[in-house]
Amino acid sequence: MFKIDKILIGTHNKGKFREISDLLPKKILKISPNSLNIKSPDETGKTFAANSLLKAKYFYEKSKLVTLSDDSGLEIECLNNQPGIYSARWAKDFGGFDNAMTEILKKVKKANNGTKARFISSLTIYWENKKFITEVGKIEGNISEKRGLNGFGYDPIFVPNGYSKTFAEMDYKKKLLIDHRYIAYKKLEGKIKNYI
Ligand code: IMP
Repeated sequence: MFKIDKILIGTHNKGKFREISDLLPKKILKISPNSLNIKSPDETGKTFAANSLLKAKYFYEKSKLVTLSDDSGLEIECLNNQPGIYSARWAKDFGGFDNAMTEILKKVKKANNGTKARFISSLTIYWENKKFITEVGKIEGNISEKRGLNGFGYDPIFVPNGYSKTFAEMDYKKKLLIDHRYIAYKKLEGKIKNYI
C-alpha cells in the first residue's frame, strides 16, 4: 500500500509549521516551502476551507510532494466574526501582532457586546491526481487582556472554554493537543491512517 514518507507543510508561518510537524508521525519527513524556495500564493478564497485548498494545491503543484496546508484565524463575535480569514492581514496592516491585538482589544471594548470568539483551522492534504481531503477544526473561547509569552500570533488574547489560561500562557504541548489545528488534524488523521 502507498505510504507517505515525506510531506511538504505548506506554510511560511513558523508557529503553524511547528504545530503541524508535531502532529504528524515522527517517521514522516517534514519539508518546508522555504527549503525549496517556494513563496506563498495569494489567498483569494472566501472561506478557510477554500484558502487551505488553494494553498495545498499551489504547493503541491510547485513541489510535486504530498502537501498539507492550513488556513486559520480568529473569529470574534462582537466584531462580526472579524478578523476571520483576514487574521494574518490584520496583523500586517496594524504593524504586527502586538499592535493588532491592542486594536482588537479596543474594538471589543468599544463594541461592548461580549467577548465570545473562536479559532478555526482548515487543513487540506493534497496528493497526486488532484486528490485532496479538507477538514475543519474549531475551538470556542473568549477574548481576554494580553497574557503569556508562549505560542504565536493571537495566542495571548484567547482563552479557550473550560480553561483560565490564554493559549500563550499554556505549555506548548497543552495547546498543541487541544487547539483548532489539533481538532482538524484528528479528523484528517482518521481518513489517512492507512497511508501514514
Ligand atoms: P493564514 O492562515 O496564513 O491566513 O494566517 C492565519 C492567521 O491567524 C495568522 O496570522 C496566524 O498567526 C493566526 N493564527 C492561526 N492559528 C493561530 C493559533 O493557533 N494561535 C494564534 N494565532 C493563530
